[in-house]
Amino acid sequence: MEPVHVIGGGLAGSEAAWQVAEAGVPVVIHEMRPVRGTDAHQTEGLAELVCSNSFRSDDAESNAVGQLHWEMRRLGSLIMAKGDAHQVPAGGALAVDRDGFSQGVTAALETHPLVTIARGEIAGLPPAEWDSVVVATGPLTSAALAQGILSLTGESSLAFFDAIAPIVHFDSVDMETAWFQSRYDKAGPGGSGADYINCPLDRDQYEAFVDALLAAEKTEFKEWEGTPYFDGCLPIEVMAERGRETLRWGPMKPVGLTNRHNPTVKPYAVVQLRQDNALGTLFNMTGFQTKLKYGEQSRIFRMIPGLQNAEFARLGGIHRNTYLNSPKLLDERLRLKAAPRLRFAGQITGCEGYVESAAIGLLAGRLAAAERLGRELPLPPAATALGALVNHITGGHIVTIDEGPRSFQPMNINFGLFPPIEGVASTGPDGKRLKGPARSLARKQALTARAKRAMEAWIGAPA
Ligand code: FAD
Repeated sequence: MEPVHVIGGGLAGSEAAWQVAEAGVPVVIHEMRPVRGTDAHQTEGLAELVCSNSFRSDDAESNAVGQLHWEMRRLGSLIMAKGDAHQVPAGGALAVDRDGFSQGVTAALETHPLVTIARGEIAGLPPAEWDSVVVATGPLTSAALAQGILSLTGESSLAFFDAIAPIVHFDSVDMETAWFQSRYDKAGPGGSGADYINCPLDRDQYEAFVDALLAAEKTEFKEWEGTPYFDGCLPIEVMAERGRETLRWGPMKPVGLTNRHNPTVKPYAVVQLRQDNALGTLFNMTGFQTKLKYGEQSRIFRMIPGLQNAEFARLGGIHRNTYLNSPKLLDERLRLKAAPRLRFAGQITGCEGYVESAAIGLLAGRLAAAERLGRELPLPPAATALGALVNHITGGHIVTIDEGPRSFQPMNINFGLFPPIEGVASTGPDGKRLKGPARSLARKQALTARAKRAMEAWIGAPA
């Protein structure tokens, strides 16, 4: 049997190769380290963790990434097995001894009879005779390969600086303070004239907000990233440094809006949130790209009236990344529409994080193996964390407002990507109405319980 070729032995590539081999199909991993390095990796080990050693929350009852851990364990994930084997104490999180973890993954793959590891860069498009390739070269894909992929896509660019604005869960916004309205009630294509959530600030609140931005701790760029600011996309704290009124003339301008709760008082400044997914469960803070440290972001953005209890699906950031405009370029089985022999996995597809990258590697590996064996593998249901994540990537949940090549942004798994759930208990065991955090917990528990049932059904379905 011809092998599947996996390019990149990181989190996604290692998991993809493991899944292919475990399905009984030979696989070759092409990893360029140590022949050629990246700007972030330090070792030649497979599945090297380039920064933190955390796989984040391991709570599979009320946390979305914990639910993804659970699903990956159920699916025989190598990354989770070695993560568990090399766990270090970290409260409710799964953190790992990074060297032991990487060595464990490397040894498992090196000793698998169906796995070959070839060290060297694939510098350009893979040879035409490779009929099944998983490209899992990550955010630091080598330039020669990136250029090759780009030539197939018709896109102008593959490497970006993500300028990410924070994304908020709709059900954590206080709509007794905020209101829905588009500026001048304008209805764009598919819009109603009330597409944005508006959060009003009076003068004192605005001044306090600007002071907090100026005093906040910022994350520095890594040397190799350079400083990628361009004027259309300045971080809010840089705007604040340019003048106290800059934000009020920029993303916080109060024009064309009337506070529905208090029509006679004109807001001094307004923060707008725009719908971020088709489900309407997530909203992004328009124009609020930022390099503030995460803790500072949560603290300072909760100063905005209406967002005092905001829960963030993701916080803002600006960093270098390499990823495809996947909703446009990939089919639902993660294959490049322009060249279906190339399947993509990991961060290059537009997911974010070690666990998510490995999860997409897991799915890509299973899809590649099924294809080689002539079997049709159904896609994971949208109610599972894995299904929700792949839907984000291949476009199931992308809104059409502000259509454009940059509207697709990488994302961690979060409950906003799951289809909403009906019939969550609104009363507790004592018969009292559940409110606030108790209701939010009940909803999360219902989503993870549903995800587990859906995953069990998917595993049990004949392939
Ligand atoms: P990688 O793990 O980077 O694996 C890609 C592999 O492909 C590498 O081993 C690389 O050497 C190889 N490769 C590249 N080009 C070629 C080629 N042409 N031929 C052969 N091999 C090639 N996520 C978190 O969850 N927590 C963090 O703390 C975190 N910190 C990050 C810090 C930085 C600096 C970066 C860039 C990203 C960080 N991420 C973090 C995001 C992301 O989850 C990780 O980068 C993750 O490793 C992505 O997994 P991957 O398998 O897609 O890519």
